[in-house]
Order: sequence, then structure tokens, then C-alpha cells
Amino acid sequence: MEWIVLGSGNHKPNGERGSSGHVLRGEGPPVLIDCGAGSFHALDLAGVEPWSIETIWITHLHPDHVADLVPLLFRLRVETKACGPKTLAMYGPRGLERHLRMLYDLHAPHIAVPELTVTVHELDESRLARAIECGGCDVRPVRMDHGTMVAFGYRFTNAAGRAAAYTGDTGPSDAILELAAGADLLVIEATARERGTLPQHLTATEAGEFAAKAGVGGVILVHLEPDRDEKELLEEAGRAFGGRLFAGRDGLVVSVVPTQDSTKE
Ligand SMILES: [Zn+2]
Ligand SMILES: [Zn+2]
Repeated sequence: MEWIVLGSGNHKPNGERGSSGHVLRGEGPPVLIDCGAGSFHALDLAGVEPWSIETIWITHLHPDHVADLVPLLFRLRVETKACGPKTLAMYGPRGLERHLRMLYDLHAPHIAVPELTVTVHELDESRLARAIECGGCDVRPVRMDHGTMVAFGYRFTNAAGRAAAYTGDTGPSDAILELAAGADLLVIEATARERGTLPQHLTATEAGEFAAKAGVGGVILVHLEPDRDEKELLEEAGRAFGGRLFAGRDGLVVSVVPTQDSTKE
């Protein structure tokens, strides 16, 4: 199983960092996680065929996590002409269904056609208690602390027991520990420059501290300010965390390997 960073940036995408988007590729069909500006283009750069995606997990409805849903749906709709009907399952917070309905109102018939069936699963408390099977993984959503936004982190565990956790956007919260405990890979946001300046986000230092506390094997820092220096980010997170550590870059691919192996490197 491997984690592909489509977009390592935040709401200020530039030539190097697109907004939030990720793919988890393993035994089953690739899974798309968030779909911010640039994600659709980055799928092609990462060699992920859009048609092969059967499931999308949305952490929350801030535009830097959902802006590329329209071009993706448009392309899939066009491809149904050649490839036949397609079903796509989309998971996310309450409001996702309304969000899509409004997109359909704007863009139908270009993205809403009978041949493309999108099933929307809004996550509620009953769904948080149990894992959801998807793409060869069990997926566990955990409610994160992102101010007034309803936001989820997701933990993906494959049949071999390898686990990758993704925080989406979050401020400092014990929910991060619940999400990431013992995971082989933690993809964690590190937007804020200084502790306390953006309470709905984390600094790289805080990301490293949570990763160390959660006992994860590897870390990718994402949702980064476009001008942040990678060396500085790694230094900050590396003060507390001693495992495999990556500053997210668009196109970065990281294997989800057993925690014990990753810490030996
Ligand atoms: Zn956000
Ligand atoms: Zn964001």
C-alpha cells in the first residue's frame, strides 16, 4: 500500500504545491482522499487513471479540499460514453449531499447523467463507531477539531494490518491520537507557522509532537504554506518525532510499511 500526495499545499496553491488531494493505492482500486484545486491534474501526473477511482473520501467542505470535484465528474461523465456506466461512492461530512446537489444544479447535464451514479454517504455518529470497508481497506472516520467546520480524519487499514491515517485539517486535539495511534504512516497537516496563531491548524512542531505521542512509524507533513522551507519544517517536526519524516511535495509517494521497519531507517 502506498500514499501518493497529489497536493501538498493549502488554500494558496502555487506552481509547486496544489491544494489538498491524496491517493491511497493498494490491492483494490485507488482511493481518492480530498480533491482540492490541482488534484485532478495531479492524478494524471501520478499515473492514476480517473476512471479507476471508485471511492472518494472528503474530510470537510472547505474549497481547498473539494474544488476539483467538478472537473473529475465531468471527465467521468464524458468517459461513460465509451466505457459504459460507472458508480462512484463518496463519503464525507453532513452537507456533502447538498454540496453535490448544488454542483449538479449548476453543471447538469455535464456532470449529472444517468450513466454516472454517485452514491453519497454522509458520516454521522452511528458511522463513526465502526469501520467501513472500501477498496480493500477498513476505513475509520474520526471527528477532528477544525473550528466551526465539521471535519473528519480517516484511518485506512488494509488486510495485512498496515494502517495509514490522514488528519485533513485540524487544530491540536486528542482526536489526532485516536486517529493515528500506532499507525504505520500519518499524513498530518502543518499549516501554521507559530503555535497558537491559527488554532484550527497545526504547526510542524505540533505535528511532530502528536506523531511521537501516537507512536506512528512515519509522517508526511501536508497542507503546507507555499513558501515554507522544507528543511525548516523537517527540523521543527523532527525535534519530537524520530521516525521516517517527509515534508509533503506534490507527487511524493511513500510506502506504508510496518512501523518497526520504518523506525530502523
Ligand atoms: Zn479547512
Ligand atoms: Zn484546508
